[in-house]
Amino acid sequence: MARITLDHIRHSYGPKPTEAKDYALKEVHHEWEDGGAYALLGPSGCGKTTLLNIISGLLTPSEGKILFDGTDVTNLPTEKRNIAQVFQFPVIYDTMTVYDNLAFPLRNRKLPEADVDRRVNEILSMIDLSDWAKRKAQGLTADQKQKISLGRGLVRSDVNAILFDEPLTVIDPHMKWVLRSQLKRLHRRSGFTMVYVTHDQTEALTFADKVVVMYEGEIVQIGTPVELFERPRHTFVGYFIGSPGMNIMPAALEGSAVVVGNQQIALPKRPAVACEARLELGIRPEFVQLARDGMPIAISKVEDVGRQKIVRASFEGHPLAAVVPEDTEIPADPRVTFDADALNLYANSWRVETG
Ligand code: ATP
Repeated sequence: MARITLDHIRHSYGPKPTEAKDYALKEVHHEWEDGGAYALLGPSGCGKTTLLNIISGLLTPSEGKILFDGTDVTNLPTEKRNIAQVFQFPVIYDTMTVYDNLAFPLRNRKLPEADVDRRVNEILSMIDLSDWAKRKAQGLTADQKQKISLGRGLVRSDVNAILFDEPLTVIDPHMKWVLRSQLKRLHRRSGFTMVYVTHDQTEALTFADKVVVMYEGEIVQIGTPVELFERPRHTFVGYFIGSPGMNIMPAALEGSAVVVGNQQIALPKRPAVACEARLELGIRPEFVQLARDGMPIAISKVEDVGRQKIVRASFEGHPLAAVVPEDTEIPADPRVTFDADALNLYANSWRVETG
């Protein structure tokens, strides 16, 4: 497996843009650890596939270099990069049996047949297709075919990295959940470097050690699921991760208090921000409490979601969501307080330290 270095990479599909903002992929400069499980997460068009294709060699970046374990592979074609790939739709041999589909990449590398058999059976059991081993791939369901694709991606143990491009899209919801946790277990056991593209936050958060959040061609944060939840570096991360996402409201500073409309909310210390910066206050719905001595809100809707309620309201003219326990009584004169440790301040969309 390999450490992947993305060295000042930029990509434009057209002629070289005059402004940095016009690149499909803006400056990406990171080192991903050998054996890490990374999920590239972001909305449609943010550049996930572009970055994945640069790693796999399907695309040469307009600028910058890509290195595997310190070796420059920028101009190496995909087949020379020694990577496994799993795409959104199955890439398998229909006329071969399920077993032979998985054995193919190993036999191709002239592995002893006993090793092929051990490895193929291990993966077949993982993807729950052991009973189908002797069946031709032809005639299997789309779901099963995609599991074969997944198995082919996982079967070799000598690759630099395994790249997944939304591999569970065609898998049914229950199996998706099962495969996600199996992938995670396999990663822990094998130490493979895995890069997994998805726009589904649950998929990213369950699979990855590190989630790479992309927005408008840029990596806005790389962090553990907990870091992304507790300390989003960018308002987009706050909004995109979590359900509902972070409440984000325009704000101003007065001394060490942040002001939203007519309400003053104390911060532990006065943050250092340039006076022209556009400020926003972020607070996750989980840290908004209904409290008799709090600030007034106007509730528009209460959604019952099992063990919790989501209260949708307006706070100083801005939408505010609160997640409260299911047995919470909604008062006639609702008021809220914010957990001080969970306040996030953003200047021009980027996080400012306040503690
Ligand atoms: P999705 O989740 O929809 O696949 P993505 O996050 O993978 O989106 P990319 O496919 O990498 O995003 O696209 C990034 C940007 O580059 C988008 O603005 C897209 O329109 C543009 N783009 C992608 N492929 C091409 C191409 N072949 N030619 C021109 N522009 C492209």
